[in-house]
Amino acid sequence: MLINLNAQADAGTVSRELAGLGLWIDALRNSDGIVQAFQVQSGSTPVTKDRIYQIHGVASVLSPESKHPKVDERRGVPVSIGKAVFGGDDPVLIAGPCSIDDESQLNQIAAQVAEAGGTFLRGGAFKPRTSPYAFSGHGNVALKWMRKAADTHGLSMVTEVLSEADVISVADTTDMIQVGSRNMQNFALLKAIGATGKPVLLKRGRAATVQEWLMAGEHLYAAGSSNVVFCERGVRGYDPKTRNLLDLGAVALLAHDYQVPVVVDPSHATGRRDLIPPLAQAALAAGACGVMVEVHPAPHTALSDAAQALSFDAFREMAKPYRGQGAEV
Ligand code: PEP
Ligand code: MN
Repeated sequence: MLINLNAQADAGTVSRELAGLGLWIDALRNSDGIVQAFQVQSGSTPVTKDRIYQIHGVASVLSPESKHPKVDERRGVPVSIGKAVFGGDDPVLIAGPCSIDDESQLNQIAAQVAEAGGTFLRGGAFKPRTSPYAFSGHGNVALKWMRKAADTHGLSMVTEVLSEADVISVADTTDMIQVGSRNMQNFALLKAIGATGKPVLLKRGRAATVQEWLMAGEHLYAAGSSNVVFCERGVRGYDPKTRNLLDLGAVALLAHDYQVPVVVDPSHATGRRDLIPPLAQAALAAGACGVMVEVHPAPHTALSDAAQALSFDAFREMAKPYRGQGAEV
């Protein structure tokens, strides 16, 4: 943001007032050394233009036009879905299997999620898999199992849709639609999802910049989405010791600078169950308004992402800060 001064302005007084509003500023001087304007640095407290115009000596306040005005409009506005409030007082716990392997597995997991203080059941009916020979989900029948399990245990549900052809059936069943990392810039899919008006959990593309991620959110809002919650799930790093590289800097940026609701998925970020609990804590410290984790009754038998599935015992331990938020069981 650029704040131009008028000829009569007392630059010292204006700069003190700007600093008092929480703005970090650099003075811009003309060739005679006279301060003509102040440049506001990023990381400053958000202040409206109207407030700055109230300062005596300010001639004009200019800011570059945002490329994601609809995302900006929701700054600081919490997103409520069922019992979960993303960006409210309590962090949100989303948990469930990677893939919905069968109905009874899902029911056992839903009971655990509710008891541990989770408010959202996750699980894949349509699974994006690197190998065409890997289990890719039970499809529509699994959506029905999931709706039933979520309702039985007083949870909301979130599930991924992979194809435009399935958007309506997924939207009709779920409370929140997940856009997976691989589809963050599938603009035709984003448009079809947006048209349903459903809230969206928008995972960050594995090589997407923060700007591209925010723009994907803008695509959803432009197409009609009611709410978008961003989900950091790690970007592709250089070290195969962890599956991805969890970018907590981007989480802090979204939470504190852009002020949009952002949750963290430490399961896909690390690919290792032992690293999920510490990174779930780190996520909240960075400003995330919740976490999404994978849990399974018999992790080694999970049909997808077995290495990152938490056992019930480990899940209960990591979920301690969330206890009391879930359904009465
Ligand atoms: C998932 O959450 O089920 C998933 C496939 O994650 P991602 O899109 O982040 O890889
Ligand atoms: Mn998974």
